[in-house]
Amino acid sequence: MIQPFHSAAKAAGRLRPSGPRNLCPVCGRNADGDCRFSENLILCHQGTRFGPPQHLRPGDVIDINGVRWALIRSDSGFDGAAHEFRPDRGITSKQETNVAAPQRRVRQLATSRRLRQFNLGFREALRCPAFELLSADEADRYLPAIFNTADQGLKLEPVVASLASHDPSWKRHLKALRHRLKAIGYQRDNARWVFGIPTPEDIAALGRGDE
Ligand SMILES: [Zn+2]
Repeated sequence: MIQPFHSAAKAAGRLRPSGPRNLCPVCGRNADGDCRFSENLILCHQGTRFGPPQHLRPGDVIDINGVRWALIRSDSGFDGAAHEFRPDRGITSKQETNVAAPQRRVRQLATSRRLRQFNLGFREALRCPAFELLSADEADRYLPAIFNTADQGLKLEPVVASLASHDPSWKRHLKALRHRLKAIGYQRDNARWVFGIPTPEDIAALGRGDE
């Protein structure tokens, strides 16, 4: 017979007392009805003859006939003398999504900020006149922008690609980033060709305007 959902849920939630033919799954109590349990809850009463294992602390998990049950607290039940066990359901995929969502949001915000920085650097690099026409001041200003921004973009690309793989709305950011990376990559390679390949010290010196 197929039960309506609500009555099935009710049946699953109904607590049955321990008894001679209904042993408490935790302590085996059969003498009286002091322990009560359902498919979702076990209230195991601490008595003199029967009682839950005393070494258990809230959060501990025990195995009952192949099912994992977690001790929620040890002062449950009407008289505060029962161990309350609930099935250890682990983290369901729904909970996992809920837990991960704020972290993903933080990562998106941080990545958005880095993308904005990259885009600012990219626009600055684009303003650079033809290398052959650069004054020393302009070289000090634009060359670090080109090298640093190209570096920044290379580090950013896998992060944005990972976000785009989870969230289609990031695909256009990834596309734009790759396009700009290509452009600034050409600019960087040309700068290397015109000025020679700079060492990290050269780049740092350019940033400080040292001679
Ligand atoms: Zn019990």
